[in-house]
Amino acid sequence: MYRLENIKIRDNLKEKQILEKACKQYKINMDDVKSYNIVRCSIDARNKDDIYYNYTIDVETSCKIRNAKMVSNEKLSLIEKVERKSNLRPVIVGAGPAGLFCALVLAYNGLKPILVEQGKQVEERQKDVEEFLKTGKLNVNSNVQFGEGGAGTFSDGKLTTGISNNFCRNVLEEFVKFGAPEQILISNKPHIGTDNLVKIVANMRKEIIRLRTEI
Ligand SMILES: Cc1cc2nc3c(=O)[nH]c(=O)nc-3n(C[C@H](O)[C@H](O)[C@H](O)COP(=O)(O)OP(=O)(O)OC[C@H]3O[C@@H](n4cnc5c(N)ncnc54)[C@H](O)[C@@H]3O)c2cc1C
Repeated sequence: MYRLENIKIRDNLKEKQILEKACKQYKINMDDVKSYNIVRCSIDARNKDDIYYNYTIDVETSCKIRNAKMVSNEKLSLIEKVERKSNLRPVIVGAGPAGLFCALVLAYNGLKPILVEQGKQVEERQKDVEEFLKTGKLNVNSNVQFGEGGAGTFSDGKLTTGISNNFCRNVLEEFVKFGAPEQILISNKPHIGTDNLVKIVANMRKEIIRLRTEI
């Protein structure tokens, strides 16, 4: 697998056409490409007179590509095939991003964790936040920082924390599964938005409960 970087695209092209451009730039025969994956798309607007998309594409090919670095196409998985002998149930404290994903991964792997959260479900929590903004009355367990979804739920929804972690792709794929726009998979600055995030967190909770985790 080779990583083709700095593919400058100035028009609205389809994926295949973007690949064609990349192949031309790196002098690759399209017929040699076995598979490809668009990994990143950013907008370069530094020059106002020449704004363009900058793509990064991974291609699997039988031939050697000069000037491109090799990358592994091994995909990390949230699901391990592990045989569990214990009937003990893991306890997770806090339904922020860490706790929600912890519950999800354990549940995917056949365990039935117990997730403990001091605050309210995200939809109810939203009402508490609005109440606080209107009246200044603070619910100490359910507010901008505490409650299902965790500290960043009512922020802008730009995914910045831990974005370079190796498991990031899995996290983004999970978000898409629960309702985030597919664009976040390739965007240089993945953005979900607060309105979407509230629905996504609620969908995650429903799936976690369906997999028999107790909240
Ligand atoms: C205002 C704000 C805006 C942010 N905006 C962004 C952003 O736009 N993009 C970004 O990537 N990151 C953002 N962050 C950072 C991001 O929110 C954190 O990195 C992330 O929330 C950490 O996740 P966590 O699960 O470790 O902890 P938390 O999100 O803090 O979750 C901990 C959870 O545990 C619960 N809890 C705590 N103690 C107990 C207890 N004793 N019993 C039961 N439950 C308990 C809390 O109620 C909370 O729900 C923001 C953070 C803040 C504060």
